[in-house]
Amino acid sequence: MNRILVVEDEKKLARYLQLELTHEGYEVRLAHDGRSALTTHADWPCDLILLDLMLPELSGIEVCRRIRQKDNVPIIMLTAKDDVSDKVMGLDMGADDYMTKPFAIEELLARIRVALKRHSEQGAEHAPGERVLTEGELSLDRDSREVRYGTEPVVLTKKEFDLLEYLMLHRNVAISRNELLDKVWGYSYLGDTNVVDVYIRYLRCKLDDPYHIKLIHTVRGVGYLLRLEPEGDGA
Ligand code: CA
Repeated sequence: MNRILVVEDEKKLARYLQLELTHEGYEVRLAHDGRSALTTHADWPCDLILLDLMLPELSGIEVCRRIRQKDNVPIIMLTAKDDVSDKVMGLDMGADDYMTKPFAIEELLARIRVALKRHSEQGAEHAPGERVLTEGELSLDRDSREVRYGTEPVVLTKKEFDLLEYLMLHRNVAISRNELLDKVWGYSYLGDTNVVDVYIRYLRCKLDDPYHIKLIHTVRGVGYLLRLEPEGDGA
């Protein structure tokens, strides 16, 4: 039975989510503030977290950041309609997805299924020989989720890692934004592909710029392609 931790300070909503999720066959625990979210998470390993962002004690963003330091569990944020900057910050902190309140329970249930499925596939999808992907000096360990350039560690958020992993798995192949959205984010995420461009930019800032390489190439009219070239060579 999959376990879901629901972090929500509106008690009525929390109770409603607990009933609906239990009815769907999930085992559910509730936390009503940021601190108890962290203690519950530490005591009770779970398969997914629903995380309200506006919380007493400790913000949802901070909860997300701390959990992500040690756990790769899928996190779906619950946000108020106008919290655009919080959404972006939450995704940067490694949240997988968000739902804007008020939401239809069916949509939340569908997203939970997608997140759980993606997470279990990520754990199982690679054969032992492919554990470490390399491209020149760049290496990506799919088990420990560590990225290095030479001997230097490169710190990536969860989504940045997933995106780089997908590009490295398909190196030298032009991949469309839609494919990246589908494979890395799970479905048509924000209704447009801008999020892909934003994350490509983050990766370039963390890889291309500091190491004076050109790793991620824009393929006009198509999308992106990963191939390691020294800066100044080629496109
Ligand atoms: Ca709240």
